[in-house]
Amino acid sequence: MPVPDGGDALVVLEDVDKHFGALHVLRSIDLTIHRGEVVVVIGPSGSGKSTLCRAVNRLETIDSGRIVVDGRPLPAEGRELAALRADVGMVFQSFNLFAHKTVLDNVTLGQIKVRKKDRKTAERRARTLLERVGVATQADKYPAQLSGGQQQRVAIARALAMDPKVMLFDEPTSALDPEMINEVLEVMQQLARDGMTMVVVTHEMGFARSAADRVVFMADGRIVEQATPEEFFGNPRSERARDFLSKIL
Ligand code: ADP
Ligand code: MG
Repeated sequence: MPVPDGGDALVVLEDVDKHFGALHVLRSIDLTIHRGEVVVVIGPSGSGKSTLCRAVNRLETIDSGRIVVDGRPLPAEGRELAALRADVGMVFQSFNLFAHKTVLDNVTLGQIKVRKKDRKTAERRARTLLERVGVATQADKYPAQLSGGQQQRVAIARALAMDPKVMLFDEPTSALDPEMINEVLEVMQQLARDGMTMVVVTHEMGFARSAADRVVFMADGRIVEQATPEEFFGNPRSERARDFLSKIL
């Protein structure tokens, strides 16, 4: 199936609609994420940001429209769905680690099960990634023994261990104590500099300004405007965006 919008489009949403009962949560969403691009999605609570992320990872179905990830159209099922999930890394607000597995196992098991690596190779890769996110010394601990910031960095390492093509972050720092926010944002900044394709839902406007190639502003299930961070923060075009920014900045 042809990928719209040129060869470097990695994630494409075309005219996507989604309802929860009578609630219309995604309205004619058209969005293209290019390889290597960092897109920050912002907007008021309830505007559909999480649903958008979950739809890309197929944690939610859509009512109509089309979502294409690296040339593969959703919906996917079975083996294809597992492959899609591995290609689309996701980090949630709540850390979602396996509570009864060690940090090392958390970052190793998916590689063995989904990517079919042997344990030794998977563990070597896991240790490299834990080093990269700054928690190498915590490898043998259990998630509950770690701070929230450390757990979230493990969650990032676990997603990266699958060699995803794109990483989705849904408010990854919202549940963290303030002093732990920066350690997670710094890992994400580095990932962005390393060229990872990223979609980041966040209220951290400093991160949006410094890391985003593009800001997408959502309200009431629609993409109201999208622009570079300079344009968006310097000169928001819509009344909705101006109102939103005046409340959070
Ligand atoms: P955001 O992430 O921007 O805060 P969400 O995508 O979580 O927004 O939610 C968009 C709207 O859909 C909200 O009104 C929310 O209450 C509703 N919603 C989200 N998930 C469900 C669900 N599983 N069932 C019913 N309503 C939902
Ligand atoms: Mg949300």
